[in-house]
Amino acid sequence: MKNVGYVGLGIMGSAMAKNLLKAGFNVHVWNRTKSKADDLVKAGAKWCDSPAKVAEHVEVVCVNVTDTPDVEAVIFGPHGIAAGNPGDTAGFVIVDHSTISPAATREFSARLDKEGITLLDAPVSGGDVGARAGTLSIMVGGPLDAFERCMPLFGAMGKSIAHCGPSGAGQATKACNQILCAANLVGACEAMALAEREGLDLQKMLAVTTAGAGGSWALSNLGPQIASGDMSPGFMIDLINKDLKIVRRAAEEHQLPLPGLNLAAELLRAAARLGHGRDGTQALSCVFEQLGDFNYKRA
Ligand code: NAP
Repeated sequence: MKNVGYVGLGIMGSAMAKNLLKAGFNVHVWNRTKSKADDLVKAGAKWCDSPAKVAEHVEVVCVNVTDTPDVEAVIFGPHGIAAGNPGDTAGFVIVDHSTISPAATREFSARLDKEGITLLDAPVSGGDVGARAGTLSIMVGGPLDAFERCMPLFGAMGKSIAHCGPSGAGQATKACNQILCAANLVGACEAMALAEREGLDLQKMLAVTTAGAGGSWALSNLGPQIASGDMSPGFMIDLINKDLKIVRRAAEEHQLPLPGLNLAAELLRAAARLGHGRDGTQALSCVFEQLGDFNYKRA
């Protein structure tokens, strides 16, 4: 697999496609907003006018768009990837790096199977930092042989790569991951709030707690941003809210109570209502400022 497509060049997709270029793949790209492809094209990627055109040039197309209907549009739409694949390309694979519904993924996979196209769900974790560094965790669902053929690609974009099971298992694993991200984010915001109200040196508190049993990715990566007042995304509040809807729907299907997740989801909903939807998830700390009636004293 030397020729690879990439559809969806947002914060994650652009960084991941750049790592494919760096690893020596011929990368064909499309994004709804064309200007976001400029840097990649300058770096050697080839622009195509639609997802269908991308599919005409390659054996595997990576997708990285926002939500379930967006994945459906770029795959099955009139100029979508499926329309560009002639159907006789043995082994044509779509790798979906977006975070979407496990149930919809299984349905898309069944539809594509009928057209001779394999779908791997391959959502990622590790944030924009991991996407740029090529150190993402990639959790994959779908046929094992397609997973193994795509390993060189995954190796260029990630560090921890796991085949989790049949179609949808990658997305289901990602849903579990998002429960952990949301719960750890609430914990990080609460620890920072108490540290501020106690008048602690926030950097010292972070240095101690990130090294101990209370440490988490959220605390290590978002704690310093909360301390400095940097609310730029990373991973937007609107996107984690989208993910938590997916988790809640899956829990609903199993009649599974997830009270911790629901608390985190309500707090994150409040963050969006307060105008932080396009900020990074660390902006959840602003909700705690309001709840606690304090402001971080920043230089
Ligand atoms: P982003 O920067 O907002 O990028 C979203 C991309 O999706 C853009 O390229 C956008 O095109 C495209 N898009 C959305 N709807 C579309 C549609 N209907 N048709 C065609 N293109 C469409 O978001 P991101 O942070 O890269 O996230 C992408 C995916 O990765 C999401 O599923 C997210 O949950 C997941 N994810 C993100 C992170 C993170 O830390 N950011 C971490 C893990 C997983 P335009 O440029 O035209 O808007």
